[in-house]
Amino acid sequence: MTIAIYAGSFDPITNGHVDIIKRASALFDELIVGIYDRPRKSLLFTIDERVKLVKEAVKHVKNVQVLSYSGLTVEFAKEVGARVMVRGLRMSSDFEGEFEMAMMNKKLSPDLELVCFMTSLQYQFLSSSLLKEVSQLGGCLDNMVPDHVAVALTNKFTSKPNLKIDRIYNVSGFHIIS
Ligand code: ADP
Repeated sequence: MTIAIYAGSFDPITNGHVDIIKRASALFDELIVGIYDRPRKSLLFTIDERVKLVKEAVKHVKNVQVLSYSGLTVEFAKEVGARVMVRGLRMSSDFEGEFEMAMMNKKLSPDLELVCFMTSLQYQFLSSSLLKEVSQLGGCLDNMVPDHVAVALTNKFTSKPNLKIDRIYNVSGFHIIS
C-alpha cells in the first residue's frame, strides 16, 4: 500500500490544489493532505479554518485524509507512513524553489520519493496569494476556488477590510506596490 502526502499552507485551497489532489488520489492508495500550521509567509486563515476549507473541498474524494502538522514535512511524512511526497508544478514560477526543497528533503529523508504533477493548463497562473488580492479588491473568483472558499474569502475581507496581505498587486496594472 502506497501512502502519499501533499503538503502546503493552503491559504486558502484553490481549484489548482483540488485538481492535484484528485489526480494524485487516483494514483496512490491513500493521499494525506498535510496542512502546515506555521509557514514563514503571513497567513489569512487560521490553521483550523484552512483544515475546514480543505476538508469541505475534498469530501467527495474517497481515499483522502486531511491533517495539520507542524515541524519538518519529511518528519510528518514519516509519522503517517508516506513513501511519496506530491507537489504541483506551475509552468514558470515553481521549478527552482521546488528543486531546492526537493534536494534538501532528499538529504533529510532519502527514502521519501518526490512526485511532481504538472499543473493543468487552466490553473497555471492561479496562486493562493494572487486570489487573496483579487478577492480583497472585490474581483470575481469563478472557477478559481470552490464556492465555500469564495464565501470564506468574502467574509474574511468583509470582517477585516483593511487587512494587509502578503503580496500586494494592483491586478489591473500588475504593479507590485509592497
Ligand atoms: P506552499 O506553502 O508549500 O507553497 P501552497 O499551498 O502554496 O504551499 O502549495 C502547495 C502545493 O500546491 C505546492 O506544490 C504548489 O506548487 C502547488 N500549487 C500551488 N498552486 C497550484 C495550482 N494553481 N495548481 C497546481 N498546484 C498548485
